[in-house]
Amino acid sequence: MSDIDELRNKMEQVTLEMIKLLNTRNEIAKEIGQVKKNLGKRVTDEVREENLRTKVISLCDEIDLDTSIGTKFLNFLLNESVKIQTPMDQTHLTIFLKAKSLEEHGKKIIHMEVGEPDFLPPIQVKNALEKVYDKGFIRYGDAKGLSQFRSALAKKNSETFDVKTVQENILVSPGARFSVYLAISTLLNPGDEIIIIEPAWPAYKDCAFNAGVKVRVIKTTLESKWEPNINQIEEAITPHTKMIVLNYPNNPTGKILPLNVQDEIIELAIKNDLYVLSDEIYSQYSYKEWKSVLSYNYKKSIVTQSFSKSHSMTGFRIGYAIAIAEIINKMSELQALCLTNVSEPIQFVALEALDADISNNANIIKSRLELLTREAKEIGLDFVEPDGSMYLFAKVPKDEFDSGRFANSLLEYGLAVAPGEGFGDYKDFIRLSACRDEKELMDGISILRRYLKE
Ligand code: PMP
Repeated sequence: MSDIDELRNKMEQVTLEMIKLLNTRNEIAKEIGQVKKNLGKRVTDEVREENLRTKVISLCDEIDLDTSIGTKFLNFLLNESVKIQTPMDQTHLTIFLKAKSLEEHGKKIIHMEVGEPDFLPPIQVKNALEKVYDKGFIRYGDAKGLSQFRSALAKKNSETFDVKTVQENILVSPGARFSVYLAISTLLNPGDEIIIIEPAWPAYKDCAFNAGVKVRVIKTTLESKWEPNINQIEEAITPHTKMIVLNYPNNPTGKILPLNVQDEIIELAIKNDLYVLSDEIYSQYSYKEWKSVLSYNYKKSIVTQSFSKSHSMTGFRIGYAIAIAEIINKMSELQALCLTNVSEPIQFVALEALDADISNNANIIKSRLELLTREAKEIGLDFVEPDGSMYLFAKVPKDEFDSGRFANSLLEYGLAVAPGEGFGDYKDFIRLSACRDEKELMDGISILRRYLKE
């Protein structure tokens, strides 16, 4: 046998051994997952992970292996265990889908789980839908979006946020969700780390897992008014950390960060050369001073925006990302691969909608939130009053409260709410959405009041 064949055989042996060991590790992870479930423990134990990381680093030193490779491999293994151990949490989406299916069977449900405004899109949308066929926006197009639309978006952003954006900074995507997916999938590599401040919209974490990226959660609390602790963020940063996600006004808490806290986070990101993915789709719904991440002019920031909430156009699936051209180009390559381009007719419709006056939408949601706030106080829920967005994230003061079970049984009474566990380690919370008219919200609250008493 030649030398190369012998070496290849050895390599094959080692690889197969590694696969067997991975299988053994996964079996153990499964067992640990069961024990954690029985004890009611969280899946991720940061302290244990850190201990293991320290051991891996010293082993790398001892055997002369590049620590960066060793710790990346560790991140891969940790993610595998998290995937194995993560129970299928109930999220606003699972409850929404169950509610929809019950409705199909004739049950009446009040939707307080979903972030979908009940008002119609602006009239410009109807007119544009009528015009688009004759206008000829019916073909394949640039993966980044229609040039007229991108430049109109750039202009709008320049005016609104007092920053210079040009069309090269814009990528049109089917909803902000896809922009989030593109940013995480193209800018990060397996083994990299991402910082997510919880409670959070679940897709950030899911996109990270999907891309093999290790998630570091910064847990915030009702007691600290949902403000992340800067030292905690600083401590979570490792040489593998590549991105931090911000989402203010926040889903689910309605929080807007005090400007000094936001400034500190951005400073920290700049110091550590991190991408800042700032999901700003609720900016239209800010009821106190709010500052876009765009205004820091940081070259590694990616801002996501959407027509879903601002223009009540959820079903049109249209949003966009704003970043430097280099980032936009990367994201657009994956977009081209996945879907060629966003539907041209829909881009035209959204372009026409840009001229609409949507300022009243925020007034409507604000007054509904005020109603929810009053009523939720009255029934004894515990929460911080939202500064923006369209939700109330409230703690249910009951022992051993399980938001997933609660949300499922509430469906039988005709009310859908979002369970807190879908947003992180918040089993004792529920999210109430202010997306229905006041009468319906009041009916929803009375169901909640009745059920909480039982
Ligand atoms: N980001 C956040 C914080 C959201 O709450 C949602 C939708 N609920 C999205 C993004 C997705 O929005 P889109 O409909 O534009 O994909």
